[in-house]
Amino acid sequence: LKGARARLSELLDEAEGAVAFTGAGISTECGIPDFRSPGGLWTQNKPIPFDVFRAHKAARNEAWRRKFAMEEAFAFARPGRGHRALARLLARRRLAGIITQNIDGLHQASGVPDEALVELHGNGTYATCLDCGARYELGWVKAHFDAAGGVAPDCPECGGPVKAATISFGQAMPEREMMRAEMLTLRADLFIVIGSSLVVFPAAGFPLKAKHNGARLVILNREPTEFDDLADLVVRTEIGEVLSPFAQDG
Ligand code: NAD
Ligand code: ZN
Repeated sequence: LKGARARLSELLDEAEGAVAFTGAGISTECGIPDFRSPGGLWTQNKPIPFDVFRAHKAARNEAWRRKFAMEEAFAFARPGRGHRALARLLARRRLAGIITQNIDGLHQASGVPDEALVELHGNGTYATCLDCGARYELGWVKAHFDAAGGVAPDCPECGGPVKAATISFGQAMPEREMMRAEMLTLRADLFIVIGSSLVVFPAAGFPLKAKHNGARLVILNREPTEFDDLADLVVRTEIGEVLSPFAQDG
């Protein structure tokens, strides 16, 4: 652990533009389960694909039921040691930016400014109409959902389906965020993957792109990933343990 930390520190010192790429693993210590660990969300419920959500009212009702069931974990979650370390590294300009697959808002909560953060898979703290783009707060959706006995509301403006502002499997990626991620990746000389199984594409393409573009690649994840062989440093241990010293000054 000490050796891995020292090596990571060295790599950060040598880098001009380091980028962190985070996944669900950085938030598990905050009480938000990931998808693929034992007991993860994936093992309980297969995600509802985008086309199914759009086509079927019953799927929308089920998606919102699950979302509200999870809301408590999200609402009470506070940034963990990993989030705090990354916020500190950014503030000290040892990191150029963070690309996240997470939708939990914990990077923002740790003080990371919007300019330094790319949310590839959207944000789960509000909802939008899929047809007209109108924005709705979760409280509004919940009030209608509860009042109707577990039926998801449609958009009052246009009748379209209302969905959490997150990207589902089969849904188009947000163009602006993809472009920002691409720019950060191509400028990076050090790319640090933190808590991602690296199986969800196109997101998992960014570490590959960085490596092929000449960046050094670090993978910090409890379990092995497909890309470990490509990495300059692989650390298979608790994210909070490895990163906590970076949250301090000095
Ligand atoms: P994933 O669940 O596929 O992989 C998470 C990885 O993190 C696993 O390989 C696991 O071994 C590792 N991990 C978990 N806790 C760890 C810890 N404390 N220390 C070290 N390693 C740890 O997650 P993913 O790669 O981000 O892909 C899943 C998709 O699901 C993403 O697209 C994301 O948008 C979404 N998701 C988001 C959240 C969230 O916002 N917090 C939670 C679940 C899923
Ligand atoms: Zn609408």
